[in-house]
Amino acid sequence: MSDVILRLALPSPLRRLFDYRAPAGVAGRTLTPGMRVRVPFGRREMIGVLVEVGDHSEVPQDKLKPARALLDEVSPLPPALFKLCLWTAQYYQHSLGDTLSWALPNLLRQGELAEARQERYWHAADGASLSDPRIARAPRQREALQTLAQHPHGVAHSLLSKLQLNKDSLDLLLAKGLVSVEVRRQLPAPRHEHWLAQPELTLNDEQQAAFAAVRSGFGAFHAFLLAGVTGSGKTEVYLQLIREALQAGKQALILIPEINLGPQTVARFEQRFNARVALLHSGLSDRERLDAWLAARDGEADIIIGTRSALFTPMKHPGLIIIDEEHDGSYKQQEGLRYHARDLAVVRAHQEQVPILLGSATPSLESLHNAHTGRYGLLRMHQRAGGAQPPRLLRLDVRSLPLDSGISGPLQQAIRQTLEAGQQVLVFLNRRGFAPTLLCHDCGWLSGCPRCDARMTVHQRSGLLRCHHCGHEERLPQQCPQCDHVDLRPIGAGTERAEDRLKLLFPDYPVLRVDRDSTSRKDAMHTLFTTIQRGQPSILVGTQMLAKGHHFPKVTLVAVLNADGGLFSGDFRASEHMAQLIMQVAGRAGRAEEPGKVIIQTHLAEHPLLVQLTEQGYFAFAEQALSERRSAGLPPFSHLALLRAEAHKPGQAEAFLDLACSAAEAWLAAFPQTGIELLGPVPAPMERRAGRFRAQLLVQASGRAALHRLLSAWLVQLEQLPSGRQVRWSLDVDPVDLY
Ligand code: ADP
Ligand code: ZN
Ligand code: ZN
Repeated sequence: MSDVILRLALPSPLRRLFDYRAPAGVAGRTLTPGMRVRVPFGRREMIGVLVEVGDHSEVPQDKLKPARALLDEVSPLPPALFKLCLWTAQYYQHSLGDTLSWALPNLLRQGELAEARQERYWHAADGASLSDPRIARAPRQREALQTLAQHPHGVAHSLLSKLQLNKDSLDLLLAKGLVSVEVRRQLPAPRHEHWLAQPELTLNDEQQAAFAAVRSGFGAFHAFLLAGVTGSGKTEVYLQLIREALQAGKQALILIPEINLGPQTVARFEQRFNARVALLHSGLSDRERLDAWLAARDGEADIIIGTRSALFTPMKHPGLIIIDEEHDGSYKQQEGLRYHARDLAVVRAHQEQVPILLGSATPSLESLHNAHTGRYGLLRMHQRAGGAQPPRLLRLDVRSLPLDSGISGPLQQAIRQTLEAGQQVLVFLNRRGFAPTLLCHDCGWLSGCPRCDARMTVHQRSGLLRCHHCGHEERLPQQCPQCDHVDLRPIGAGTERAEDRLKLLFPDYPVLRVDRDSTSRKDAMHTLFTTIQRGQPSILVGTQMLAKGHHFPKVTLVAVLNADGGLFSGDFRASEHMAQLIMQVAGRAGRAEEPGKVIIQTHLAEHPLLVQLTEQGYFAFAEQALSERRSAGLPPFSHLALLRAEAHKPGQAEAFLDLACSAAEAWLAAFPQTGIELLGPVPAPMERRAGRFRAQLLVQASGRAALHRLLSAWLVQLEQLPSGRQVRWSLDVDPVDLY
């Protein structure tokens, strides 16, 4: 008997498909990939996505179960998006079912219809009269009827309360036949005729060259790296390219690092165009997300803007993809499906044959390398568009200088001068809280986290010790937990401490703190920024939240309290991240008339990378860093995959990784000369975190093809290792963070 077999991807970590028979009464052969099917799975039900229809199965006939129901008449996923998911699962060695779970809106995974929301509309019935005797003594019903009569197209159910329409009154009117309810789809707004809601700026020569290069790539795949210093007018280039895409009848997809931090960016896109903008970010409800996703899929949104996961938004008429701040770490997902949205966006642009533009003032070394090798077209913009001068970067050697809450004497002087000149100061410090450690001066006790190999941070304002790695909290002790003495001292400085100190040093000026603790309230950030925009002399102190996308035209001095962490860290990317952060913070300064100055406190004032960065700028730094990577054989000159494992008992994670390592060695022995090296297993740099013991095994390869051949053979074996059940393990292809 030749039976039709449905091969489904199910939301499971297992890297395989699951076979089912077609649901009763459904002709299996007519089904197409992407359709959703409800199936029994153990004692539960699951929703799977059809990958292929076959006619035989390895599963014995009597074990093959029929699916329960077909959920779609056509696949809710357009073929292009389905293809992207297949590619993603394959590349990141992740289960396809789980990949689809990350890529699809929640409601679709739960079986919701893949249709825009149906809305109920209330109408006054034909011939209904306000003088109807049945409502003569019901003033609220009369009022409701009168309001409805003023809306000949009906009132959407969701707007009832806005119009002060009372649902009970409407129900009574409905029972009397004086009103009617109609269910219909909210009609999409039509496409506009005139795209521009505000005039465009005249592009300068550098902008014009970048614009023209990308413009000439429309209609086919081309990747461009737009490396333009902060303020060079990258956003204006994006805007004009988007206008071109819209005029050509296409949609544009724009990824930005964080929506909540960059409201100015989103506002600029919304203000420029008469366009239907779909905004996708983590603050949306499931329904809002699905509606935005559907609008993009059905061509009812012209511009799609979102964070990392918006990469998986389908488009009916894709025309252009833009990745703003392409170096930003938030494009890499660090859990579950560990994809990099920038890298996948390039793949997607290739699959959909559209141009992609990666923009940054501080491009990642990967992207610069791709530009050097000709994979990306390199577009440079050196000048600030508004005519502002670039800031000057100065290294302040603080060896043997006393630091007062992290702030040296010369820096205090520079801050004072700036404030007295009526300007603003930005103090950057990459550490929240009051101090990173609490120390007992009598016995040497340190505030270690009971669950991690890390210290708990002192949060003076909330009276807590808090671990920034696992979230563990304790009351700030008054006495040493070990010797009961009271001489407890916070060691080092975080933003809270710098804020306190600056307030004491400069009592006549406002000091505003910006970090995750100070801005957790929804409007806090907004209040802060309006204060700053007013422009009186003041001090802003904060973490990298300050580095993102904001314009502070009155800031003329930027102080970086400590740049050294990035220079001697064991993480080979630390110096790149430090340089990007310094340049991004520096880019906030002196954006208008006043030129800006950046003072970097360091104990390593002669470090070659720091000298390059401050004297010759980011691109000189990047060349130096790239040549160091080349000689060390590190990415982008090699490719990495990191196998991580963690377990409750010490030794378990290593034991699993030892077996994994043997399996990989056996494969390498069978296929010699692949240019692959195994490094480890070793304990993770922070071995214990949140109560688990962690270890890792790094795979380093000179070629991507060989690496992927190893990975796909290897993962099948790993899934079957019995010791894998006692540990949590995961594979990270192209890891950004080696911790
Ligand atoms: P970036 O995105 O590269 O940081 P922006 O696009 O934010 O730069 O531009 C910086 C400033 O320069 C903005 O205030 C912007 O309005 C202005 N600007 C950009 N392009 C031009 C132009 N061609 N002429 C005049 N001003 C411009
Ligand atoms: Zn003590
Ligand atoms: Zn902890």
